[in-house]
Amino acid sequence: MTRDVGLYFHIPFCARKCAYCDFVSYPGMEDAMPAYADALIAEMGRRAAPEIRIATAYIGGGTPSLLPPELMDRLLDAAKRRFCFLPDAEWSCECNPGTVTEAFLAVLRAHGVNRLSLGAQARQERLLRLLGRIHTWEQVEQSVRLARAAGFENLNLDLMLGLPTQTVSDVRESLDAALALQPTHLSCYGLIVEEGTPLHARVRAGEWTLPADGEERDMYEACRSILAENGFEQYEISNFARPGYTCRHNTDCWKRREYLGLGCAACGFMGNIRYRNAPSLSGYLAGAPAEEETVSPEEARFESVMLGLRMTEGLREEDFVRMHGMTLRAAFGSKMDAPIRDGLLTYENGVLRLTRRGMDLQNRVLLEFL
Ligand code: SF4
Repeated sequence: MTRDVGLYFHIPFCARKCAYCDFVSYPGMEDAMPAYADALIAEMGRRAAPEIRIATAYIGGGTPSLLPPELMDRLLDAAKRRFCFLPDAEWSCECNPGTVTEAFLAVLRAHGVNRLSLGAQARQERLLRLLGRIHTWEQVEQSVRLARAAGFENLNLDLMLGLPTQTVSDVRESLDAALALQPTHLSCYGLIVEEGTPLHARVRAGEWTLPADGEERDMYEACRSILAENGFEQYEISNFARPGYTCRHNTDCWKRREYLGLGCAACGFMGNIRYRNAPSLSGYLAGAPAEEETVSPEEARFESVMLGLRMTEGLREEDFVRMHGMTLRAAFGSKMDAPIRDGLLTYENGVLRLTRRGMDLQNRVLLEFL
């Protein structure tokens, strides 16, 4: 039987480490790129199987656009040789402004990559500097121009909310500037201050102050209303798309479809097995094996709720029954009642969905289901 799955490639190289970043990414390691491409291609060979068909693919990082075009060409060529891509497969690549070149984009297009995601983050120079981003807003605009010229119609811009010193009017200005570039998709992520990052140290030392909770909520509401006015539909807590342009790769992950992750620190999930590749670049290059775990039926049911509730369409009872062989009520019993009673969750017409307030308090809702 065929299995339609997602495919993720992790490209762990960056020009410089951003102040908030705790992703697995390495600045100044360009020399390791050819060996990394070899290791990725070897992993493709190990993970490919005749029954697997690729419905969506996503090249993320790190900064995939830092790879020399000829190396990206090798990787994409190998991927197409080893895996069977469905004819309508969505294939996205993350890029960072300041690293995007005509030659790189031409390679993506030549291999069928049809969606680009650009880390724009904020319109204001002071915020880009504070975040340690390597680019200016002019470079965001230039990257979009290059992407359009290369033939990319489906284009996402990432923006960030809740940054130190950021105001609601900054967010409005960033949204206006982003909308002027006519993207098909916008992701508006709230900043997470991760321990161990320079940002965390400066916030803890009192050098940088985060917006108050109420102000961050106002930023989020500004996104929701401005994007709705401009024809974007919110389909997930942080994601907005023009009709027909939701990111299928991410949506499939939230629907708990199977996916293969390739590269250092990449995770995959097939059947009831979840794996995580060696977390460091050196370990991955040295051939350290992936760690595997079996996902229990209880964990699988909880994951369906945790991921499904991220989407504004919610979790459909019939999908849950198809995946787990039991109803939501049979799986969670009275655990559903308190968040419904408190107005955080609704269950109507066979769909479990967070309310607007529930979106703000998602963790509290999930705790009830644990
Ligand atoms: S570009 Fe992305 S992955 Fe790279 S350091 Fe910045 S936030 Fe991290």
